[in-house]
Amino acid sequence: TDPALIRNFCIIAHIDHGKSTLADRMLQLSGIVEDRQMRAQYLDRMDIERERGITIKSQAVRLPFTALDDATYVLNLIDTPGHVDFSYEVSRSLAACEGAILLVDAAQGIEAQTLANLYMALENDLAIIPVLNKIDLPAAQPEKYAEELAGIIGCEPSDVLKVSAKTGEGVEELLNELVRQVPAPVGVADAPARAMIFDSVYDTYRGVVTYVRVVDGELSTRERIEMMSTGATHEMLEVGVISPEPTKVDGLGVGEVGYIITGVKDVRQSKVGDTITSAAKGATEMLPGYQDAKPMVFSGLYPIEGTDYPVLRDALEKLQLNDAALAFEPETSAALGFGFRCGFLGLLHLEITRARLEREFDLALISTAPNVVYRVVMEDGTEHTVTNPSEFPEGKIDQVFEPVVKATLLSPSDYVGAIMELCQGRRGNLLGMDYLSEDRVEMRYTLPLAEIVFDFFDQLKSRTKGYASLDYDTSGEQASDLVKVDILLQGETVDAFSAIVHRDHAYAYGTEMTKKLRELIPRQQYEVPVQAAIGSRVIARENIRAIRKDVLSKCYGGDISRKRKLLEKQKEGKKRMKMVGRVEVPQEAFISALSTG
Ligand code: GDP
Ligand code: MG
Repeated sequence: TDPALIRNFCIIAHIDHGKSTLADRMLQLSGIVEDRQMRAQYLDRMDIERERGITIKSQAVRLPFTALDDATYVLNLIDTPGHVDFSYEVSRSLAACEGAILLVDAAQGIEAQTLANLYMALENDLAIIPVLNKIDLPAAQPEKYAEELAGIIGCEPSDVLKVSAKTGEGVEELLNELVRQVPAPVGVADAPARAMIFDSVYDTYRGVVTYVRVVDGELSTRERIEMMSTGATHEMLEVGVISPEPTKVDGLGVGEVGYIITGVKDVRQSKVGDTITSAAKGATEMLPGYQDAKPMVFSGLYPIEGTDYPVLRDALEKLQLNDAALAFEPETSAALGFGFRCGFLGLLHLEITRARLEREFDLALISTAPNVVYRVVMEDGTEHTVTNPSEFPEGKIDQVFEPVVKATLLSPSDYVGAIMELCQGRRGNLLGMDYLSEDRVEMRYTLPLAEIVFDFFDQLKSRTKGYASLDYDTSGEQASDLVKVDILLQGETVDAFSAIVHRDHAYAYGTEMTKKLRELIPRQQYEVPVQAAIGSRVIARENIRAIRKDVLSKCYGGDISRKRKLLEKQKEGKKRMKMVGRVEVPQEAFISALSTG
């Protein structure tokens, strides 16, 4: 295709503002999906995406469109993942475009996530087309939000397009504007091929399907290609475009978007952000912006049934074929048995992974409280990377570094006080605050990532009646006064409950956990102390009192069969007991202590 007739674009929107529905209307308008084949949210392929209403993996679809000038254009819609956990994938899919539709619900206004993605799009020099959706809703306030949008991106309110993705109203006009305002791709046709990978998906039948945007030169079938970050070469078995089903083509030229299949079996060999060139006469310089996916949040995953351990390992290996960011290694816990320490991009990534393991592999799992990665520098200059609190080094520590994020919060101005209180309690630092309109405020904070991974989002929602929204991006590390708090049962550390917390929060964590365990662990034959300690210093203590009466004494020595039944029941219960030192703890107790966070 002549690059002058190509337009590559994406849709930036908050969850539920109508991105998938708008994509559906575009598919119908271009005629590549017949009305009778149409199903809602055509492009959201994974079940879990449909259920949770989020897009995890981006997709690229090619739409022919005849514009007002009677020329037929090729529009490539690149669907970006909407969640902050996947912000690196978002940034790569934005880099594959020249323009972005900024889609905002006309009854809701702009949200933090949209704003963060908009800033990312502006950094990538994309042409922005502001669009208000759902104008068919009685609650829509298109005039009000057109002002707001115009104020943020610096255009006139009258430049803001108004559509209904549901009814299709205004969608054709939108595509015409897109052709007019989004620049055609530019690249050097006779240069060595350079294409950026913006997504990579494992398919059971075809291996890894890699989505690319060609910048220079051409990729053609049966050529050998090279992954520039590693130098690995592969044979190209198929080149194609999605329209909306995969369709083979001979090659992809400057500005084109499509997929390639090389026969690799693992998405880690075909990484998002990497540059593909031809193996024979390759380019020397990679396209900018490549970075390795780095797990930010760690948690131990353990099967509730110990015999499920091999199933869990196979399941994690299978998920990794499709998820370059998922990391795991075996781990054992005295309390929980055999499991895996897993690394995730963020909390949502953790939740999705866990839900998929439970659903697709029929596993019952218990996960330890999530923690971030700490860098510990000792007084003698040695360094430790700690991804598991129980590995926090002993000895003379000079400094502990923790990852921090830059957070953007958007809220009605009524809740500014509540948000400030929350952020201050979480060791936040206010960077700035702007009024987007008279009743909507944007606040920017730096916050330790560890303070966000627990229940920050829930707290934010409850303190603002659901009105505030949050987005964040990692922003280096800071030295903090962090300590490891251990929980001990009769003097024995229970590894699954160790946590790295700020010194100011250590006491609160210690008292909360000891109280919880005192309530959850049944009485033993003797008194059992539950303690929280920093090193050898005990900071909180509770006692599980001893049982007074023997169970059998309740039976008054009378009914023999009743006695036997009781004994059997006790035996059964014991099977699911874990020994911590001399203390018997039902696994249930660990599970509920960990799940009530
Ligand atoms: P996404 O999360 O941005 O992909 O949003 P969806 O496309 O899944 O839409 C979220 C919800 O809004 C769905 O229930 C849609 O049916 C609804 N929706 C989307 N566009 C419109 C619209 O223009 N008008 C109305 N009334 N509802 C819409
Ligand atoms: Mg969607």
